Amino acid sequence: PIERNKEIQEARMELPICAEEQIIMETISNNPVVIICGETGSGKTTQIPQFLYEAGYSSKDNDNPGIIGITQPRRVAAVSMSKRVAQELSLSEQEVSYQIRYDATISPKTVIKFMTDGVLLRELANDFLLSKYSAIIIDEAHERSLNTDILIGAVSRVLKLRAELSEDDGGKIKPLKIIIMSATLRVSDFTQNKNLFDMVPPIINVSARQFPVSIHFNRRTPNIDYVSEAFKKVCKIHTRLPHGGILVFLTGQNEISILCKKLRRKFPYLTQYKSKQLLEEEKIVGDVESLTAKEADVEIGDLDIGDKEVGEELFDTDSEDSEENDEITVDERSGPLYVLPLYSLLSTHAQLRVFEAPPEGTRLCVVATNVAETSLTIPGIKYVVDCGKVKERRYDVITGVQSYVVDWTSKASADQRAGRAGRTGPGHCYRLFSSAVFNDQFQQFTIPEVYRMPIEGIVLQMKAMNIDTVYNFPFPTPPDRNHLRKAERLLQYMNALDENGGITELGRVMATFPVAPRFSKMLIIGQQHGCLPYIIAIVSALSVADPFIKDYHLDISMNSDDDVEEEDNEDFDVRYNELSEIQKEAISQKEHRKLIRKRFYDVQKKHAGLDPTSDILKLLNVVGAYVYEGGTDEFCERNFVRPKAMEEIHKLRRQITNIVQVNCPGVDVCLDSKMKPPSIVQLKAIRQIITAGFIDQIAIRKGLIDKSSKIFSSARNVEYCTMWADDNVFIHPTSILYHHKPPDFVVYQELHRTSKVWMKGITVIESS
Ligand code: ADP
Ligand code: MG
Repeated sequence: PIERNKEIQEARMELPICAEEQIIMETISNNPVVIICGETGSGKTTQIPQFLYEAGYSSKDNDNPGIIGITQPRRVAAVSMSKRVAQELSLSEQEVSYQIRYDATISPKTVIKFMTDGVLLRELANDFLLSKYSAIIIDEAHERSLNTDILIGAVSRVLKLRAELSEDDGGKIKPLKIIIMSATLRVSDFTQNKNLFDMVPPIINVSARQFPVSIHFNRRTPNIDYVSEAFKKVCKIHTRLPHGGILVFLTGQNEISILCKKLRRKFPYLTQYKSKQLLEEEKIVGDVESLTAKEADVEIGDLDIGDKEVGEELFDTDSEDSEENDEITVDERSGPLYVLPLYSLLSTHAQLRVFEAPPEGTRLCVVATNVAETSLTIPGIKYVVDCGKVKERRYDVITGVQSYVVDWTSKASADQRAGRAGRTGPGHCYRLFSSAVFNDQFQQFTIPEVYRMPIEGIVLQMKAMNIDTVYNFPFPTPPDRNHLRKAERLLQYMNALDENGGITELGRVMATFPVAPRFSKMLIIGQQHGCLPYIIAIVSALSVADPFIKDYHLDISMNSDDDVEEEDNEDFDVRYNELSEIQKEAISQKEHRKLIRKRFYDVQKKHAGLDPTSDILKLLNVVGAYVYEGGTDEFCERNFVRPKAMEEIHKLRRQITNIVQVNCPGVDVCLDSKMKPPSIVQLKAIRQIITAGFIDQIAIRKGLIDKSSKIFSSARNVEYCTMWADDNVFIHPTSILYHHKPPDFVVYQELHRTSKVWMKGITVIESS
């Protein structure tokens, strides 16, 4: 019998899913695969693992002794949900644990394990029977993330194997239970797919108590500036409508930070009661509040079959920051607004704050990405403000050009968002677009990711699971054959597959690294001249995310913001001496910005090194220095890098070093905290290894082909040609090569389309 504390017990009784425990457990007991659909917040993620646990799954003396595994498409959810379930069961972190790419709390005592879907996929390569599990729960299946789709295909096979073996084998191997969970009823791709499951699995629909939500469309649709529109809407709600939390959906971290800042300025909570927690949040990212804006950047590691963060990537604008210069009048009559951001890159600690009751006398306002759409349920939300947009990574299979596109979300996901307002009582959803736009321009459902992502990482994982003919793999929705063929060809090119498409020894080693195939390849060829420790550091950094804060994320571009104090405004109902305080502050902030700006550019120069030939070497520099100086937040602040990214890079370094030690006997590496800068010979070798890793991503200066003799002193507007893209491509302004004489040949890490196609992560190829 499980002892839960009273408060938790009461909260559980409210959850609709708890009323159905018996039916659910009977169905699971009688069927190998069960699909559970239930409105977000009905209790699927937190309760189903507990039901299984209480029914004896994962108990040592049960006939199904393996542990209970549950997968999530997002790290945020894996970590925070495991904490919640541990708390509900009064168990420790070692018993209810999580495992994500960089981090784990698992132990021999683990009974319930939350993990990202990428983690389970990699486990499949080592143990295709998943023998340590008695049950696998695949959560958020409606999102159709690439890893989730592949997992469902793979476990459908594991299931058959375990069923057969359990009959032959005198009962040593037990059958596996699969539970697929979805926030929507649209599960026909899983149930009607004859390749997937022999028998149509039963579907349990948990009827959540959902209160009516009135939907209000905008009469007109703002062109681009939905952040301002959201601001106006939140102001109206807060000043005019009865109490109840507000949840705003935007597309990315930058926008979220801008809106949070404006709202905090308008309905100050901070200045009066500057809470310790919020102070902490600011400290982590720097001393200027708006610095939070820079935290996210594009997540690299395209074929990252590790963990992924959906839609969190910052739009890489080459235009100016969108924060326009509208003055904000402080409104104290309506009371303070307790504004919290919510996105994947935020620290877990800061994320968990949304579950706490807001401080007395304040109204909660959470500004979130679509992580709040289905994976996290925020209590007490009565109003939803939906910009209707989502940021998606697009990928061109032929050219390899990636782009982050902010586009309309689907009708299904807009409805999910609206539903967030009806959990605790009748609610309202304000859509910042017209009903005509909704009807005509919104797709019915979100397109599965398998159509939108590079897949060579997944293909290599499948081969490592001995799935030789990927064409026959039971994909819930199969990708284009050409897409599969291209992935196979790239892997053959890297010698991960032989000419018949079978996996090679090299390929198997590559598959053990939790990074994209081309990075695995760099690790394997990285042993010359004692370069491996450097290559491990580089690959870790490239796989995590760009840790550098960009100048356009800092409040240091001396732009319109500096003139704010000159505006006069009738609505300013602040007394004169306060106004002059504000002015004083503005002036000192201006000085402060100048100072930061100088520091920023000095630091960039320092990391570029004496011989600025590679953005990737710049990355290596900062990773080395971080560990050398003890890995402190102070270092990050001083060097304009994101602490969370740096920490993750460090963890991945440790993990890759371990994998090398285990899988590559005879190779001698250890994690050296005092890694010396590479020698000249090593630098040359490292550049060659980088080039080999990106050998299909070479660009040539167009002038060289055209035999133009024009001389450039900077790379601005200098055209390059690649092997694949028809468009000319350009060196991105954030590259350290941008301000130098443009080199003839480079390799790039990725191509991004905004107004032009940009190369990022550039390394000069030496013509010797
Ligand atoms: P589902 O997976 O069906 O969307 P969940 O199991 O995630 O539902 O959530 C069930 C309930 O538990 C929700 O009402 C949510 O607010 C609450 N909850 C989840 N995590 C926490 C937490 N860390 N603290 C407090 N309440 C939580
Ligand atoms: Mg859930």
